[in-house]
Amino acid sequence: MLSRETTDTVIIGAGVIGLAIARELAASRSVVLLEQESRFGEHLSSRNSEVIHAGLYYPQDSLKARLCLRGNALLYQYCQEQQIPYQQCGKLIVANAGQQNTLEQLHHNALNSGATGLHRCSQQWLQQQEPWLQASEALLSEHSGILDSHALMSRLAQEAERNDALLCYRHRVRRIDCEPGDFLLQVESDDTAFELRCRHMINAAGLHAVPLLKRCNGFPAEKIPEQRLARGNYFSLSGRSPTQRLIYPLPEADGLGIHLTVDLAGNARFGPDVEWIKHSDYQVNSARLPQFEEAIQRYWPSLNPDRLSPAYAGIRPKLFMGGEPYRDFLIQGEKEHGITGMTNLLGIESPGLTAALAIAEDIAKYG
Ligand SMILES: Cc1cc2nc3c(=O)[nH]c(=O)nc-3n(C[C@H](O)[C@H](O)[C@H](O)COP(=O)(O)OP(=O)(O)OC[C@H]3O[C@@H](n4cnc5c(N)ncnc54)[C@H](O)[C@@H]3O)c2cc1C
Repeated sequence: MLSRETTDTVIIGAGVIGLAIARELAASRSVVLLEQESRFGEHLSSRNSEVIHAGLYYPQDSLKARLCLRGNALLYQYCQEQQIPYQQCGKLIVANAGQQNTLEQLHHNALNSGATGLHRCSQQWLQQQEPWLQASEALLSEHSGILDSHALMSRLAQEAERNDALLCYRHRVRRIDCEPGDFLLQVESDDTAFELRCRHMINAAGLHAVPLLKRCNGFPAEKIPEQRLARGNYFSLSGRSPTQRLIYPLPEADGLGIHLTVDLAGNARFGPDVEWIKHSDYQVNSARLPQFEEAIQRYWPSLNPDRLSPAYAGIRPKLFMGGEPYRDFLIQGEKEHGITGMTNLLGIESPGLTAALAIAEDIAKYG
């Protein structure tokens, strides 16, 4: 139960983003973090590939490019310092005949964005290193890796609490009133409802960040982007993984292509694909198996499809403005929406896990 009714800063959402911000801000101000579920990381932050991305794909000068690169460095350092399990296992982006130009463009984009640790790999090298793989060329990213995202969130929560942040689970924000100089939040917890006043409010509600703005009195409607949902289904591979590297095809319009990732136990899974859905639903769509088989067999022709089984699904918050896809993170502060003290983190899909510590660093610096 919440004992205070006024605080300096309220963060809505205990996913990796809200937790990273709570840890960063709690050192210098009073922070209350409100989470509707009974524990942290029940949504986007526990339904992803757990890949530490290395900033290869995003347009130069985008927030994704800058925050992914900075987040990558901060995350490896944090994992080392805090003994959070991780592995810098590296990743291969593979190209087949006719795709070399696209691989070349990706490589250039990555270099221009400031990515490092990149090497081109010949077919001969690939045949020696990954004989199961069908590819004529590849780009190796040394700084890509995997981590235990639950351990990361657990440590962020501990550090925030050590600095006196109040983490309130089963506390759902129903409505927000923007008043001159502060915010009044209507909060529901189990059977009770109460009001909480704060000077700064950070909306890190993941899939609910956009819907929440529609329940925010005084927020300019024209600053609310359209959000659509894109489910990413995963299928796991039974038995031994053919590799301990991450294997990606070339990216597609709305996703990175059906790729192979390994977890820290060495097991492999494939996904996520891109399936547009109307309502949030984490049920894996098993009917997508044939598309998975076809996509994987382009780089692993000898895959036995009987080894694939439905695993889990995540949902991406995809933003649109004027009907057009908006592919970057949308971080709105006063400059963007005109309301002092309010920060909205919208469309925080991949590489949000990688970028979390860098996003938190930015918010602490610039408000
Ligand atoms: C399929 C998929 C694969 C991905 N793979 C990767 C990857 O490999 N690497 C990578 O870097 N990134 C990846 N990402 C992106 C990454 O998972 C997200 O960017 C990150 O987890 C976003 O965290 P979040 O805190 O914004 O959201 P969430 O983790 O969803 O947290 C938001 C929280 O807000 C709470 N909340 C919502 N509304 C309210 C309310 N009204 N009151 C109180 N609480 C509320 C929710 O319960 C939730 O806990 C992937 C994403 C997807 C979907």
